Amino acid sequence: MTLAAIQRSGASHPEGGAMVLQESPVAVSETLSTAAVTAPDLFAVAIEQFDIAADVLGLDDDMRKILRYCQRELTVNFPVEMDDGSVEVFTGHRVQHNTGPGPTKGGIRYHQDVTLAEVKALAMWMTWKCAVVGLPYGGAKGGVQVNPKLLSQNELQNLTRRYTTEIQPFIGPNQDIPAPDVNTNPQIMAWIMDTYSMNVGYSVPGVTTGKPIVLGGSEGRSEATGRGCVFAIENAANVMGLDLAQSRTVVQGFGNAGSVAARLMTELDSKVVAVSDSRGGIYNPNGLNLTAVSAHKARTGTVLGYSEAENVTNEEILVLPTEILIPAALENQITAENAGRIQARLIAEAANGPTTPEADAIIYDRGIFVLPDIFANAGGVTVSYFEWVQALQAFPWTERQVNERLRQIMDKAFDAVYGTATKYSVHMRTAALVRAIDRVAEFTRLRGIYP
Ligand code: NAD
Repeated sequence: MTLAAIQRSGASHPEGGAMVLQESPVAVSETLSTAAVTAPDLFAVAIEQFDIAADVLGLDDDMRKILRYCQRELTVNFPVEMDDGSVEVFTGHRVQHNTGPGPTKGGIRYHQDVTLAEVKALAMWMTWKCAVVGLPYGGAKGGVQVNPKLLSQNELQNLTRRYTTEIQPFIGPNQDIPAPDVNTNPQIMAWIMDTYSMNVGYSVPGVTTGKPIVLGGSEGRSEATGRGCVFAIENAANVMGLDLAQSRTVVQGFGNAGSVAARLMTELDSKVVAVSDSRGGIYNPNGLNLTAVSAHKARTGTVLGYSEAENVTNEEILVLPTEILIPAALENQITAENAGRIQARLIAEAANGPTTPEADAIIYDRGIFVLPDIFANAGGVTVSYFEWVQALQAFPWTERQVNERLRQIMDKAFDAVYGTATKYSVHMRTAALVRAIDRVAEFTRLRGIYP
């Protein structure tokens, strides 16, 4: 497979875990390349959100100047030998937005549409996300421009090991700690950990999180993003007077984050009426049997065609009748075009950046309660933090301890963000950003400017 084919055709999105190569490349390519063409520059979106919150805070100009930049941006171009003996050169990035609060933390994404602007936005959001839930990290993100579905396992491993070596001077357990993101999984984290360890000559389990449990991964990590999102929803429902047992839930993106959130919503007796993947969605107003949906997806590679539901498009799924909408796929899904038609009372952003700033304003005016990404999906990085702590101490926790501590952190952060929203009369995204930026600005002030 040539590089052009690998980077342009097909996409993406295994359902977390190790199930790479499951969906039809052709159909997915059409969906994702269209989104990429029309998508706004994600870093511009991140800056726009930052400026709104900085205005609310009355942040001084010098501090704005510092926080608007990503501190370190590394781009690497590296060769990989393919199975047929040919050589392809791939482009990857690792960006550290701010090292003030501590080591930096953030996932690595493999996707053919990865750009430096996207990685910068995601790194900045990681800084705010860690600050919202009070973790001692700055934000980082990495990405390689590749469609991993078109690589063999051997090629995927070679790409991962070479990318790790290229960014090795940048990462480390006290420096910058990668984790999984879209299209990367525990196996890839194991290869990164092993490559780093081989290069330094001893095992360094703290260099990545989201590893397999036998290699020092944490109990509860693979479910943490979905679980944290549902903890956030419980808090929001409480202040909204929304009875979850009488509610319906729609989930866009039935992957790692979305499928866990969907399952946990059914455990709270919410009726999950629609789910989707990159090929499209399925809808049954009486509720879906998620075990049967997962089995259908494992068999066919997509939720589409599940017999007990009707097929819907990924555009339609966002505007279905429901109380709760969980976007758990990619960025820029809720836009000015569809925000006016969304019927949900509560949007919980399991995905990063699913809502454009224009859509945000419409949603706020319509009185829809939003749990913003930097809070709603912070369960993932929170349990990554637990994993890092366990690795540094070589002392594993039980799943129960992990989930209880996650609950405490999410509940406390919700109270803080909701309190800020009420105090400043702003919506939850701005409130979360205000809290986060205030905290990072305080670090920056106290540390001062070197030299
Ligand atoms: P994933 O690859 O496991 O799942 C993504 C799902 O979205 C898949 O079902 C895929 O088929 C679907 N999808 C892809 N394109 C789509 C489209 N155009 N329309 C609808 N569905 C589409 O990835 P994930 O880890 O669950 O991540 C999903 C989102 O959650 C991303 O925005 C990611 O940054 C964010 N997130 C994930 C974690 C984590 O720990 N996994 C943590 C924080 C945030």
